[in-house]
Amino acid sequence: MRIAIAGISHEALNTSPLPTTLEHFKVWRGQEILQGESGFSPYAAGAATAAMVAPKYASLTQMMDDLGAEPVPILHANGLAPSGTVEQSVYLDLRNEIVDGIQQAGPLDGICLILHGALLVENIWSGETDLVRAIRAVAGNDILISARFDLHGNLTEEFANKTDIWTVYRTAPHRDAPQTLERAMTLLAHCIRGGHRPRPVFIRVPMILPGEKATTEVEPMKSLLELAVEIGQQPGILTAEILVGFGWADAAYSSSSIVVIAEDDIHLPHARRQARRLAQAMWDQRHNFTFDQEVAQSADEAIELALAAGESCVFIADSGDNPTAGTPGDVPHFLSRLLAKNVPDAVVAGIPDNAAARICFEAGVGATVSLSLGGKLDSQHGAPEEVTGVVERLYQPGPDSSDAAIATVRVGGVLVLVTDRRTFFSTLNDFRKAGVEPLDHKVVVVKLGYLMPELRDAAPREILALTPGYSDMDFTRLPYNYVTRPIFPLDEEFAWSPVITNVAGYGG
Ligand SMILES: [Zn+2]
Repeated sequence: MRIAIAGISHEALNTSPLPTTLEHFKVWRGQEILQGESGFSPYAAGAATAAMVAPKYASLTQMMDDLGAEPVPILHANGLAPSGTVEQSVYLDLRNEIVDGIQQAGPLDGICLILHGALLVENIWSGETDLVRAIRAVAGNDILISARFDLHGNLTEEFANKTDIWTVYRTAPHRDAPQTLERAMTLLAHCIRGGHRPRPVFIRVPMILPGEKATTEVEPMKSLLELAVEIGQQPGILTAEILVGFGWADAAYSSSSIVVIAEDDIHLPHARRQARRLAQAMWDQRHNFTFDQEVAQSADEAIELALAAGESCVFIADSGDNPTAGTPGDVPHFLSRLLAKNVPDAVVAGIPDNAAARICFEAGVGATVSLSLGGKLDSQHGAPEEVTGVVERLYQPGPDSSDAAIATVRVGGVLVLVTDRRTFFSTLNDFRKAGVEPLDHKVVVVKLGYLMPELRDAAPREILALTPGYSDMDFTRLPYNYVTRPIFPLDEEFAWSPVITNVAGYGG
């Protein structure tokens, strides 16, 4: 049994002014995909919780061995950080390399795609849909295609019609990337061996919501995922999956969705009933998706709450300018408010500003510098903040590292982490590179939505500040042009019942 492994995983925010270029991707080719290096490799171990089933295998190679499958690794491109629309030529080069690789791979029994689900490409829109269209054109309709997704993906009917198996993360914050790939690969091997032709039943649920309102350890996602697991265990059904969607992307197909995979044609009627049941359950909960953490309506409110806190350290997420959702990340609003309030002990992580970072590196540790910080990449939601501070530390990554350079600058009581490019601070180690032990500071502002698992587990308290920006959590404040209306919550009152929008099976 020979299975090709390929994919382009990226989350693109098409309203962001910064395009995604080749330098935003890390690309593995051939055997590199199997080597299981840490970081963004497709089988990198997540930060599992005690409640979760640990990944079954130590590596992708071991997984393929156990399944009795020969891996044919082709290309896997992973977006290092979400950004704006992917440049068409960048996407096409990656796509064509995958298609050529599949064409030259010799006889294949299956293809497993490692995708995110929010790959929005200039002039093409859904990159995932275009990719499977191109693969089907060379590989034909008989070969089985399985795909693994992040749950923040917006998928299309055409994608459902041209693929056989989908699996989707069941954790947000994400901790189950390896397990999700395991399911995609295991189901694919099962179908190849058993001669099954799976049929996905796809239902678009007309709602968009920020991921922060759909974390998976709280309701209603917790129960919805339990329902999906229950449906997936029924006879004749391979799996049932929920995509929360990526609502900040402004595309006609942006929405939540569900998919239920029938093992064969004969099970389609049952799968359709179960798909309607799951979609209806999700729709019925639309008013109940809420933030699972403490919320502040503004930067000022968040700072006041943190200063009054009994906890020794409070993390505040500047959620409106969240580069992990693809925004520029350089709006200096929080810095401005912390300085205005003379806050004695705070960290701002961080502000990407190449010119300011260069000034710090040229001046050196101990130097006093005057900087015009941030507000350049995103000039719509912010303006540069003029500050004078002392350079306390400089972090210069090695030539092979994809890390940003970081200048740690003290401005009054605030430590500002000035980076030479867009990045985000999502682990304790990210801070330590800048010489900062975040838990030792009273207020730590991060450019994130929800805290990633390690910070979430470490933070004594977490406040989500509902700040304006390209990743505004209040979708009703965003200027949508393309999403298909009506859609909740842009439209509050409309009737809807589940409609199966794909034809369930390639070729109809
Ligand atoms: Zn995600």
